Amino acid sequence: MTDPRRRIPRTDVLLADPRLAKAAEELGREPVKAAIVTAQDRVRAGDIVPEAVADVALAAVDEPAPHATSLSPVVNATGVVVHTNLGRAPLSDTALEAVRTAGGYTDVEFDLTGGHRARRGRGALAALADAVPDAGDVHVVNNNAAALLLCALTLAPGKEIVLSRGELVEIGDGFRIPELLTAAGARLREVGTTNRTGVADYAAAIGPDTGCVLKVHPSNFRVTGFTAEASIEELTELGVPVVVDVGSGLLRPHPLLPEEPDASTALRAGAAVVTASGDKLLGGPQAGLLLGDAALLERLRRHPAARALRVDKLTLAALEATLLGEAPPVAAALDADVSVLRSRAERIAAELSARGVTASAVESVAAVGGGGAPGVELPSAAVSLPEPYAEPLRSGSPAVVGRLDRGRCLLDLRTVPDSDDRALVEAVLGCAS
Ligand SMILES: *Cc1c(COP(=O)(O)O)cnc(C)c1O
Repeated sequence: MTDPRRRIPRTDVLLADPRLAKAAEELGREPVKAAIVTAQDRVRAGDIVPEAVADVALAAVDEPAPHATSLSPVVNATGVVVHTNLGRAPLSDTALEAVRTAGGYTDVEFDLTGGHRARRGRGALAALADAVPDAGDVHVVNNNAAALLLCALTLAPGKEIVLSRGELVEIGDGFRIPELLTAAGARLREVGTTNRTGVADYAAAIGPDTGCVLKVHPSNFRVTGFTAEASIEELTELGVPVVVDVGSGLLRPHPLLPEEPDASTALRAGAAVVTASGDKLLGGPQAGLLLGDAALLERLRRHPAARALRVDKLTLAALEATLLGEAPPVAAALDADVSVLRSRAERIAAELSARGVTASAVESVAAVGGGGAPGVELPSAAVSLPEPYAEPLRSGSPAVVGRLDRGRCLLDLRTVPDSDDRALVEAVLGCAS
């Protein structure tokens, strides 16, 4: 009887332990049984004494689940900054903290001084208005598609929306802006051609049935060569409201992305309302930003559908923190200095090589992604591994998603915060063993 394995308490005896019985009542029998079996195995492995089985099993079921979500955290080593399949913009730490606060009871719609109802999300709206002084007023909805829907419902019910044939954009996953607008009860009046549309094309189409002119930024494709488009300034001369969908959510011009339109410039050019996404180049939560003429914004806010497109309190908190807090990860990735990326790649590759992994530091080209700036190449640096690393890296924890390129698995560092370098090394070493 000296072998401790012979003294392992039986499962049915353990399940009768009042503390474990209570846990089974609360959590169900299966997870408790699983914890018991694991604890019994640890006795067999010589890891714990038989007397500890009940306590160890209880501690295991008492621990909060490490991930109460089916989502897996991912290290984005693809070099695509705004990666739609990886959730677009990651939030800053400040924004995550704000979401935590917003998750409890908060004064999102309450005036603590007066003890009465207050304007919902006023902090986020004020931060957005301050960030874009050219806007008479601002409003936030669920996403940019919702912002466009609200514009169509408010400005063009049963009327025409005039837009260029070069701007009939499919956003992704089969959703198309023209179909979104007709679903809102507007009729489309397409003008010009795929490559060339001038202000005269718009002018010829405008009449008593016109609800608005819409200008959509082709954010996920590029037409080059013999092209022409009407400027916002020209369109505002036509005497109808001009709605401008800038897409990416840049609030001001970005020095590295000179072709990418921004909200402030569009408003200064005379746009009645500008729409944009919150989770592309702005680097915040999924949201649709509406900025523009104060009277028009009031109509948008008062439309019955506005309530159906309303944003969540968590979104409002994350948006405000993105606008007021430190630069979000998207901005950090765009602005990262390539020489710093190179030395990180060299350091990681050297450490991996020293541990027996075939790894080298290589030049790479990163991209903004589906969020905007099509065709813009961002110089970058990567750690190159043999291609067979790709699959185990993806199934690790955290998952690491690299980019396959001519038989290599590239880990592009432009989209990896340097705080993740250690995790990256460990993940590769974990695959090698
Ligand atoms: C991304 C994009 C949209 C859709 O935005 P969501 O926030 O995903 O709804 C609409 N228009 C343009 C120009 C875009 O780039």
